[in-house]
Amino acid sequence: MKKIIPIILLLIIGLNAINISSQKVKNANTVLVSFQKKDISNPKLTFNKQHINFFKSNKKEDTYYALVPISYYEKVAKHKIIISYIKDGKKIFKGVPLEIIDGKYKSEVINVPKGKVSLSQKDKLRTKKEYSNAIKIYNTINKELYFDEKFIYPLATKITSDFGKKRVYNGIFKSYHSGTDFKAAVGTPIKASNNGIVVISGNRFYAGNSIVIDHGQGIYSCYFHLSKMNYKTGDFVKKGEIVGLSGSTGRVTGPHLHFSFRVHGMQVDPLQLINLLNNYTVY
Ligand SMILES: [Zn+2]
Repeated sequence: MKKIIPIILLLIIGLNAINISSQKVKNANTVLVSFQKKDISNPKLTFNKQHINFFKSNKKEDTYYALVPISYYEKVAKHKIIISYIKDGKKIFKGVPLEIIDGKYKSEVINVPKGKVSLSQKDKLRTKKEYSNAIKIYNTINKELYFDEKFIYPLATKITSDFGKKRVYNGIFKSYHSGTDFKAAVGTPIKASNNGIVVISGNRFYAGNSIVIDHGQGIYSCYFHLSKMNYKTGDFVKKGEIVGLSGSTGRVTGPHLHFSFRVHGMQVDPLQLINLLNNYTVY
């Protein structure tokens, strides 16, 4: 009898706890917040003015989860994630500390022909249109979840350029590397990382022939510079199916696969995200 009471107490505390995948996170990484609670409604999260809805887990009873993508440009600081939900007609607030640490991304100098740096008027209009179309898609949060298995890498080759490298084009800091580059000779089969719906299939100025898959709940994977695209917009693709063949289309110096992810519209480290999603049982 004496031993039972502490165990019950622990269970009650455990049920009220909010779980966070990591209390310290690098810029451009993603954290997962989850909690278990009965009879609640409207669970929401706020981080740095960004509002994120929770989703209910299909695998764990009364469990809610949310992915929090951290911007590449987020400053090193101590923050708080604010969680709210409605229980018995009352709005409950809870705070969880989150510290942003420096990802310490390296710099790389890229020299490209001048014509490709200063775009023609026609190309400027084209890239602007392609960018706004893509952003509209990435900001669309589909409530469905299309996967229930672990994510895979699109191919099993060497990584030739890491995510996050600061890019200095012809001496000017322009951007950072928004994905992970895998070594791939022209014609290498590229696998879908998981199930989803193809939302972009076409040629774009920078990314070349591109396939983008909506995995549901704000998670998108991207496969760029392909020589061949096997699926059209609207097609359902299953994990491991060959979405296309690698190539060197778009603004590249040689053939490779540029693999990237967006979460709630934000560009995040794809390999850290895969590791995160594959290690949590809420999915
Ligand atoms: Zn790349």
